[in-house]
Amino acid sequence: MDDADRPALAPWQQRAADLDAACAVGRRERFALPDGVVYLDGNSLGALPLGVAEAVQDAVLRQWGQGLVGSWNAEDWWSAPQRVGDRIGHLIGAAPGQLVVGDSTSVCLAKAAGGALRERGGRSVVVTDAASFPTDLYVLQQVCDDAGARLVPVAQDEAEATIRAHGQDVALVAFSHVDYRTGRLWDLPGLTAAAHDVEAPVLWDLCHSAGVVAADLDAHGVDLAVGCTYKYLNGGPGAPAFLYLNARRTSSWRNPLPGWNGHAEPFAMGPAYRPHPGVARARTGTPTILSLLALEAALDVYDGLDVADLRRASLSITGLFLETLDALAPGLDVVTPREPDLRGSQVSVRHPRAWGLVRALADRGVVTDFRTPDVVRFGFAPLYVTHADAVAAAEQVRAALAAGEHELRNDEDRPQVT
Ligand SMILES: *Cc1c(COP(=O)(O)O)cnc(C)c1O
Repeated sequence: MDDADRPALAPWQQRAADLDAACAVGRRERFALPDGVVYLDGNSLGALPLGVAEAVQDAVLRQWGQGLVGSWNAEDWWSAPQRVGDRIGHLIGAAPGQLVVGDSTSVCLAKAAGGALRERGGRSVVVTDAASFPTDLYVLQQVCDDAGARLVPVAQDEAEATIRAHGQDVALVAFSHVDYRTGRLWDLPGLTAAAHDVEAPVLWDLCHSAGVVAADLDAHGVDLAVGCTYKYLNGGPGAPAFLYLNARRTSSWRNPLPGWNGHAEPFAMGPAYRPHPGVARARTGTPTILSLLALEAALDVYDGLDVADLRRASLSITGLFLETLDALAPGLDVVTPREPDLRGSQVSVRHPRAWGLVRALADRGVVTDFRTPDVVRFGFAPLYVTHADAVAAAEQVRAALAAGEHELRNDEDRPQVT
C-alpha cells in the first residue's frame, strides 16, 4: 500500500484521546510498565502494580526475617487464604466467606470438581467445553475417570441442549467464562440456569474474566468457581489460584484432597480428618505466603473501582481496536465476536503467520502472544491499557504486515513459552 493510500491515523488518535479523557478506570500510573511498551498480554501475565515490590520486601525482611515463626500469628499469615479470597470475591460478585486462595488453578479445579462429583448420587455425566483450556480438560477427564463418570465435551452452541438432553443424569456442568483462544464470552447466567433446571451443580473457570468481566457468582447462584490471579488480577508469576464454594454448598462439599490446613481444628493435630465448617475446608496444605502477600498488595490497585466500570472500559477499548484494525489492516480474520455481549477482554486474530506477527509486533514494542495453531491474542487490561494503546497497536499491525516483517512460520524459532 502506498503512503498516499494509507488510512489517516490522526482521527483515530483523536478519538482515542477523547475516550481516554472520559475514562475513569485507567490507572496506568500505578503500574511499573516499561516506557515505550504497549502491553497487550495481561491476559497471560498481568503487569506489576506499584507497591508490590515493597510489600514483598516487607514480607521477606520484616515479617519473615525479624518476625520469624511468630508472624503466623502477628501478621495473620494463617488466615491469608480467606482474607485475600474475600478481596477477590468482591470482584467476582461473591459475599465474604466463600473463597480461599491457594494452589494452582489446575489443582483448585481438581478439588472443586472432585468434591462436587462425590455428591453426584447416581448421576454420571459431566458436560464441558470441547475447546476448553487443556488443563481443564485433562483435570476433568481424570476426575471423571476416578469417579466412574463420563466427560461429555460439547461445542458452545450445543451446551444448553446437551445439558437438557442428559437431564437428571448430569452430575456437573463445568465451563470457562471466556474462551482463552477466541476471547468469546460464555453465557454464565443462561448455562448456570440450564444446569440448575436439571438440578446439577455448575463450576465456572474465571481465569480469563476475573477482574475484568463481572461474574456475579452469588446473584446467579453459581455453585463452584475457580480462577487464576496472575492474569487480570496482576498477582505475579505463579500467583496462587482461588476456589469459590457457594455458602449453600459448604456443608455438603468434601475436599478430595483433605489436608491439615482445611481441618476444623488444625492444631489439635488429631489423627482423623474433620472438615472446617466454613470455606476453609477447601484448603489443603500450607499456602505460598510470599506469593499470597504479593497478590494481596497487587489487589490494592482495584480499590474504589467497580468491575462494571472496568467492563465498560474494556469493551470500549476492544471495540475501538476492532474498528481501527478493520480500517488500517482490513481483511484480517478476527475470531473474537464483534458483539460486545459475546466477548471477554481480548481480541484474537487468525493468521497463517501468526507467530511471525507476534514476533514482529514485539520488535515494535507491542507485546501480544501466540496460541497454537495460528492465533494472535491481543489482551486488553483496562487498568493499564488505554484507547491510545489500542490505536497504536492496530497501526503497528498494519506497519508490520505492510513491511512483511511477519515472515516466521508458526513452527519456526519458537521458544518454550509463547
Ligand atoms: C490460565 C488458565 C489456567 C491456568 O492453570 P494453572 O494451573 O494456573 O497453570 C487454567 N485454565 C484456564 C481456562 C486458564 O485460562
